[in-house]
Amino acid sequence: MKQTRQIKVGPYILGSGNLVRVQSMCNTKTADTEATIKQILALENCGCEINRVAVPDMEAAKSLGTIIKAIHTPLVADIHFDYKLALEAVKQGISKVRINPGNIGDKAKVQEVVRACADKNIPIRIGVNAGSIKELKKFAGRPNWPNEKWAEVMVGEALEQAEVLEQLNFKNYLVSLKSDNVQRTILAAKLLAEKTDIPQHIGLTEAGSFMAGLVKSSIAMSELLRAGIGATIRISLTEDPKMQVRAAYEILKALKLREFGPEIISCPTCGRTQVDIAGAVKELEEKIYSDKELIKLSTGKKIAVMGCIVNGPGEARDADFGIAGGINEGLWFEKGEVKNKIPRADWIKKFTDKIKEK
Ligand code: SF4
Repeated sequence: MKQTRQIKVGPYILGSGNLVRVQSMCNTKTADTEATIKQILALENCGCEINRVAVPDMEAAKSLGTIIKAIHTPLVADIHFDYKLALEAVKQGISKVRINPGNIGDKAKVQEVVRACADKNIPIRIGVNAGSIKELKKFAGRPNWPNEKWAEVMVGEALEQAEVLEQLNFKNYLVSLKSDNVQRTILAAKLLAEKTDIPQHIGLTEAGSFMAGLVKSSIAMSELLRAGIGATIRISLTEDPKMQVRAAYEILKALKLREFGPEIISCPTCGRTQVDIAGAVKELEEKIYSDKELIKLSTGKKIAVMGCIVNGPGEARDADFGIAGGINEGLWFEKGEVKNKIPRADWIKKFTDKIKEK
């Protein structure tokens, strides 16, 4: 496994040997502090460990201090073009700055941002997105241009930007190399890991809708995480940011890299199903994954939501507990042993009571 240097973001040590931390990004207007705080608190409740906000103007930059005071997790300022926004974000107490030095322009301006971050021991993420690299724009209409070439150009861009920081003896940074293409993203991240010990924030970008983005991200992230690449992760989905957090944990859980909440197994339903199983699973997941205490208490448990009593309890006999649906009710079972009937309206309460049971 590739070793990287370590950096610190808020309370978290990132880099090899440490947990891969889950990140998301608000889709509120940052200057609307009330909405942004509300969204970050909801993201924290579903397990988001690092949040990023867009800082498109000075009004947004000056709002950061108010937001930081009201939340409990490190906040990252996403800055493009105007270095003064980065300086203001640092002044406001941000925990990390994400910049693309290439679009900040003048080297002296980048240096000023780096010095401000160094003074406050704030890490920087150099965020390279394939779509914004000038050299790659000319190949946009040439899908056959080899993925290896895309990766080389992305890594070249990242190293060029990293050199600006290194020249100032600034080592407190990560790099992300994102594209909407699974292979290009994998190749770029692996190439950077081969060449350097820089920790990486991993994810695709513009990955697509919930379904398409999740499938693409799972394939790409799985390969990188198995290779030991990834200090932080964000799953890009055109969805509620809370689902990005859920998706990241599900990937990490499936690879046994993080423990987080229960394993909920549910049947695909069939002609025997007489109750809305999909609705019940959704309701149960929403209940658990909006409550930090329920997430904690249910971690390590296996919960079953099955469609019928014919096969349900038997097929889910290794679950700690579960329900097998009938008409508007279900049979409650524990470790494969059937207990009692529960009306559909009481299922979620029964699950949460059981999770809380000592
Ligand atoms: S558990 Fe029952 S309802 Fe669900 S798929 Fe199997 S047979 Fe069908």
